[in-house]
Amino acid sequence: MSSLLKKIQELAEQQANANIATRRHLHSHPELSFHEFETQVYVEKQLHELGIPTQRIANTGVIAIIEGKNPAKKVIALRADMDALPIQETNDIPYKSQNPGVMHACGHDVHTSSLLGTARILQSVKEEFEGTIKLLFQPAEEKAPGGASIMIQEGALHNPSPAGILGQHVATNIPVGKVGFREGMYMASADELYLTVKGKGGHGAMPDQCIDPIVIASHIIIAMQQIISRNKNPRLPSVLSFGKFIAEGATNVIPNEVKIEGTFRAMDEEWRADGLAKMKKLAEGIAESMGGSCDFFVLKGYPFLKNNPELTRRMKEAAIEYMGADNVIDLDIWMAAEDFAFYTHHVDACFYRLGTRNDDKGIVNGVHTPNFNIDEKALHVGPGLMAWLAIQELSLA
Ligand SMILES: [Zn+2]
Ligand SMILES: [Zn+2]
Repeated sequence: MSSLLKKIQELAEQQANANIATRRHLHSHPELSFHEFETQVYVEKQLHELGIPTQRIANTGVIAIIEGKNPAKKVIALRADMDALPIQETNDIPYKSQNPGVMHACGHDVHTSSLLGTARILQSVKEEFEGTIKLLFQPAEEKAPGGASIMIQEGALHNPSPAGILGQHVATNIPVGKVGFREGMYMASADELYLTVKGKGGHGAMPDQCIDPIVIASHIIIAMQQIISRNKNPRLPSVLSFGKFIAEGATNVIPNEVKIEGTFRAMDEEWRADGLAKMKKLAEGIAESMGGSCDFFVLKGYPFLKNNPELTRRMKEAAIEYMGADNVIDLDIWMAAEDFAFYTHHVDACFYRLGTRNDDKGIVNGVHTPNFNIDEKALHVGPGLMAWLAIQELSLA
């Protein structure tokens, strides 16, 4: 075992309690997407105390640079998201959210404190690696258009440009002490669909005098599923789900219009564009053929997330070195979306998951729920692992 690996493990262990304290501070002071003002100041203060200079970006984001020896050799970026969700926390814990209706229910407090821990480790071993680490503390993962897209627009991936980027996310389905990797397609693009189907309302006993938007909308929903089953390449995962169908008529009233809303998810940008175009044409065509009309509006979300296969393979190998083969698992694809995906279309990327589940302690609740929590033992793992992964990647030519 390399002496640097051992040193990082020791530093990680020594600092684990400090990282947990940081996480608890952030957990009790959550801020909504694009409003991470106190979090930004807190992150800056922590980095400055370590002697790491910072720069502001994307309004509430922070970029920091740690230079090892020969800093021009290679640059690796490490990303943490910092925003919380509009959820009222129901956990009865000493570090419960102090901001009513706002909660770190997706573990971004863990990501931020973990990356601060990684920074502390890297800063103390910077004489022992070559290259540069670029830390990206990013706002607004949870809200369109996504903090990542703004970070990129404002130049986060330039001056200096990273050769690769790593990100981690808590996983409530993976036991604490383990991490998961997946090469290639990992998470989905997510677009929101808003359809207004217009007809002509009237008495339910006289449908011949009406243009029934409920029947039109029903045909549209059924037909759109055939685009998934008949037009999509079967090798590509994709989902179309409608969760809202509002027709404000009555037993004997045909309404004037129907509103339907759904989500379209894909793991291929070409199919995503093609599928959306086909859906629009189909919906408008069906409505028109039945005497009505359809306004088809798409709120574009994040792209699909692709993990660079070679980088991910190397990172998995490095993780096995760091924590043993038993603690490194393979992930399935996941049809949820994540704005880290934006980075993955610009630079080689690896987004992996940090286990936080503990059945014995009853820590089993999912992200985005009011009683989500983590086993904080995860903060014995996350910071050192990411430092080791980054150093391993920098060590390559
Ligand atoms: Zn989330
Ligand atoms: Zn998240």
